[in-house]
Amino acid sequence: MQLRIPGPTPCPPQVLKAVGSQMIDHRGDKFAQIIRDVTEKLKKLFQTKNDIFILTGSGTGGMEAAVINTLSPGDKVLALSCGFFGDRFAEIPECYGAEVKRLNFEWGKPVDPDAVRKALKEDASIKAVLVTHNETSTGITNDLKTISAIAKEYDKLVLVDAISSLGSIELPVDEWQCDVVVTASQKGWMVPPGLAMVSVSEKAWQAHAKAKMPRYYWDFTKAKSYLERGQTPWTPCVSTFFGLTVALDMLLAEGLNSVIARHARIANFTRQGVKSLGLSLFPEERYASNTVTAVKAPEKLTVSKFLQVLRNEYQVELSGGQGNLSGKIFRIGHLGWVQEKDMKEVLKAISKALPKASA
Ligand SMILES: *Cc1c(COP(=O)(O)O)cnc(C)c1O
Repeated sequence: MQLRIPGPTPCPPQVLKAVGSQMIDHRGDKFAQIIRDVTEKLKKLFQTKNDIFILTGSGTGGMEAAVINTLSPGDKVLALSCGFFGDRFAEIPECYGAEVKRLNFEWGKPVDPDAVRKALKEDASIKAVLVTHNETSTGITNDLKTISAIAKEYDKLVLVDAISSLGSIELPVDEWQCDVVVTASQKGWMVPPGLAMVSVSEKAWQAHAKAKMPRYYWDFTKAKSYLERGQTPWTPCVSTFFGLTVALDMLLAEGLNSVIARHARIANFTRQGVKSLGLSLFPEERYASNTVTAVKAPEKLTVSKFLQVLRNEYQVELSGGQGNLSGKIFRIGHLGWVQEKDMKEVLKAISKALPKASA
């Protein structure tokens, strides 16, 4: 099966083998060695000297952790959204009593940095900017470098959902001054679901010291004090840690720049292949993501049927659209353990399935 959805992604056999290892004591020396090793390696791939915590939960748990560890009820936040996951990021602080100012952009278009500057200029009381680096629902990568720089001109806290970009698309956390950056194991990291990885800057720690949103499981203070002992506050997803150890070694052996270049190359190959089949990309190509390609469904195509034919007849698993994009687009995930040959197979299957699912 070619599992080409934007997460969970396929795992290399070495990773699967590690994931199947016998359990160990999560309060023992062996686990302490693993968590220290993995945390240091993640710092290289996040390109940061900030603290990194590996939380047991999915990416959304990491997004919630970012919010509740740095904000208080009543705080004003600017939530930038150009899709399904941007909307989710806005909902979390709303749920915890923040005053959320939503800056929405049409799905299929990126966040406009000028609109961000205008919003920050107009309202000095905004404390934090929430941004999705790679909007998986529409296949767009936002200009995080510029957006973060603007937020910093106004001295705002920058919270980033980099769940489907970090480790696959360039994001130097320190250079771009991102305060809390979240990713998750089942995306570009080539391991099963179960872990959210978050980096926490000095500015984020200062905000944390004053932040009053209720928190228990996700508390960064607890995470930090346990990490000093080589532990996590609660029982971690031990198997995914085993997998992550192997996957990070693979990524570091390939080299971060090569990994990023491979994603760019494969994404470009995919986009050109899709276009050569007569299909159109959903976003404008210059904003198109290097981890997920969103394709407009032609008028006559029934997307649900198309995905079913791909799955049942060609062993290719792709994703449909989320929310109001359901039935209007389909998405190809190309992140993590992926090579050109995989996309060749996917494109060939698409070309055969299209006529079978078109009226
Ligand atoms: C996958 C994804 C999420 C959600 O992560 P879960 O692990 O399903 O909670 C959030 N944001 C983006 C951009 C994603 O791609």
